[in-house]
Parts: sequence; C-alpha cells; structure tokens
Amino acid sequence: MDPSPLFYQAGPALPEVSHARGVYLWDEAGREYLDGCSGAISCNLGHGRPDIRDAMLAQLDRVAFTYRTQFENAPAVALAKALVGLTHDQLQKVFFVSSGSEAVESALKLARQYFVASGEPERRRFVSLRPSYHGSTLGALGVTGYQPLEAPFTDITIGSLKVAGPDFYRHADADDTLHVERILAETRAAMEAADPDTIAAFILEPVGGASTGARMLGQAYLERIRALCDEFGCLLILDEVLTGVGRTGTWFAYQHYGVTPDLLATAKGLGAGYYPVGAVLARADIVEAVMGSGGFQHGHTYAGNPLACATALAVVEAIQREGVLSNVAARGCELEAGLEALKARFAWVGDVRGLGLLWGVELVADSDTKAPFPAEQNRFARITALAKEEGLLIYPRRTLDGVAGDHFLVTPPLTIDAADT
Ligand code: PLP
Repeated sequence: MDPSPLFYQAGPALPEVSHARGVYLWDEAGREYLDGCSGAISCNLGHGRPDIRDAMLAQLDRVAFTYRTQFENAPAVALAKALVGLTHDQLQKVFFVSSGSEAVESALKLARQYFVASGEPERRRFVSLRPSYHGSTLGALGVTGYQPLEAPFTDITIGSLKVAGPDFYRHADADDTLHVERILAETRAAMEAADPDTIAAFILEPVGGASTGARMLGQAYLERIRALCDEFGCLLILDEVLTGVGRTGTWFAYQHYGVTPDLLATAKGLGAGYYPVGAVLARADIVEAVMGSGGFQHGHTYAGNPLACATALAVVEAIQREGVLSNVAARGCELEAGLEALKARFAWVGDVRGLGLLWGVELVADSDTKAPFPAEQNRFARITALAKEEGLLIYPRRTLDGVAGDHFLVTPPLTIDAADT
C-alpha cells in the first residue's frame, strides 16, 4: 500500500478492508476477522444485511435529504415515535443528531437552555465521572474524564466537576455497600462545595464503556444519584451512546435499574454502522420550556434526515422482529462464562465485568494485589494485536484516571450466533 494521506492517531499500519458479512470481516489479503467489538461498538446487527440495505435504497429512491426547517419527513416521525415507545413513554420528545458527541453536546445544551428558560440561569455547570468518555467535541470533551484526551484542551472546554464513581473491583472498603456510601458521600460533598444551585446536570454512562472497561455502577449507586439530582434540582443525563439500542439486553441500559433519566443521549447502535445517526430523548416538559422560550438554539445540518432515520428505523424494526434482545441475554451468559473461564486460567485476567453483550476484561500484573501492568509495557495494545493476528477484533484501552490499568472490551454484534466463535 502507498503511504496514506489520511491521519488519525499514531499507531501501526492497518490492513485494508475488503468486505464484511455477518460477524466477519475480510481484508484485501484475504484474512478473516471475527468482529468481536462491532467496529467501535456500533455495528450491532453485523455487516452486510440485505434488509437494512433495502430500506436504505428504498429511501434513497424517494428522497435522501431534506432540511428539518423546510419539511417534516415520515421516517423521522416514525423513528421518534418508535424511540419514545422503547422508553415506554418515559421520555416523550426526540431530537436527532448524527453522532454520539453531537447527542451529548445537544443534551448538555438542552439542559442549560432549560434552566435559562425556567428562570434559573445560574445553573450552568455539569457534574461527570472520572474516568468517563462522552465524546470529542468541545462540550462533550469538557465533561469527559479521560486525561490524555482532555490535556490539550482543558483551557478551552466548558469543563465539569469530576467525581469518582464506584469501582467494585479495586475498592478498599469493607464491602460494596460501604464503598457506594463512601463514594456518594464524596460526591455529595463535592457538589455542595461547588454550590448545587449552579449545577445544570449530572451526566454519566449507566454502564461504563471504553474508558473504564465496562465498569458497572450498580443499582444502588444509580438510584442514589437519581435522588441526589432530584434533591439538588439538577437534571440527570444518561449517556447511552454505547449502551443504548439493545447493547446490554434491554433497549436502554437504564431499564435494568429502573432509574429514569431526564435526558438520554444515544447513537452508535442506532445506525448500526450503516449510517451515522444519534438522538437525544427528553422529558416533554423540558422541551416545552425550551420551545416556549423561542426554540432550541442548536442544530446540525444532517440531523434527522430521511436516509438516516429510515436506516435507524430499519435497525429498530430488525431488533424487534428477530428477538435480538433475547439473543443478547443468551449470548451474554455464554460470553460471561467464557471470559470467566479465561480468568480462572490466566492470572493476568484480573476482572471480568459487564452486562448483555458489553463485557470488559481488566488485565493485571498480579491478581492478588491487583497491581496494573506498567504503562510502558502497553499490554492493552499488545493483546489487541495478538488477538487480531488470531483473527479476533477486540476494543482496547488503558484507564489513566483513578487506578491506571489495561483492559479491553468484548462487544460482538447483538446478532452473533452461538456457533460464531
Ligand atoms: N459517549 C460514549 C459513552 C461513547 O462511548 C462515545 C464514543 O465512543 C461517545 C459518547 C461519542 O460518540 P461519537 O464517537 O459517535 O461521537
């Protein structure tokens, strides 16, 4: 291959992709890869699906793009209704975007504008977890707790009050309940010190994604954060960019816990890799307050275009039609058992955690002390490279905030079959 004019992050030269079907991809050299991480946890229905292609082609034949201020379009309305239905009408309004970062950005701005419209303009700050990942645009990056991504931009982002979430693998408290209590006490103290009346929203991922290796927050913590938001009068934004649209076995991860957000951001699996599309789901009264004060001062050109919405609608319908959520539960149990067997066999597998088909594996130098591997050993990159050599794609990271550690995600397409191993 000639040197490519493209630039991303520093890293090894990549094989050129040829084609993909189901849970497999092939490169130009003819090598086969099992997509064990759904690309970037986005190709949730696998590759090359004729039903999604047909829906996209049918929409292309009608109209690919219309601008949202000029026309209503039927796929957008149908998709919005479907998404509201998936929340059992707990969130009643939908705002479309084209990516996860845009969804988070839009949720932050909607929260802020809601308080401006409601006569509480001093509520302009956000609380988020460290570590966390909420996206790469300046607003979403501002609430992200992942030091290397933040570092060049800390002076120019909105920033947020960063607090620790529970870490059930490494905590030193006598038991999990005490740990949650301690973390919550610290969070309350930090919010009180920051003046709760200046806080617009608390944003978090209900199950951690790439920045934490699927760290679980748990029922008790999420319930108490909901209660804290209510007590302090701020909104709860759930970032379900990665966990939404079936990844954890329910349509949205919050449904495992019965902790309903005020705003929810989703993307990745909504377009399932076929088209970029995301959404913010919101409580109706929040949207009504904003719309009643002159409208939401925000929007993106491609938001809610007919092709994006027809694609996402086909994705949602496929998940419903094919009972994909039951498959997630069944395959998730098998995946958990397989990863636990790995843990029993190899001392360097420290922790296995997750839900549905979102699993994280944390690597440690010593499973007794839980000491992480030294950063310079680049274990997360090495294990990913080894897996790729064996034809398996996984999603690696090193947590750099809190206790540093290498981990990878195993997040295959939600349609994976027991035979695909
Ligand atoms: N939020 C979470 C939890 C994510 O995992 C991601 C992407 O990895 C984003 C936001 C940003 O999404 P995008 O890359 O589509 O902008």
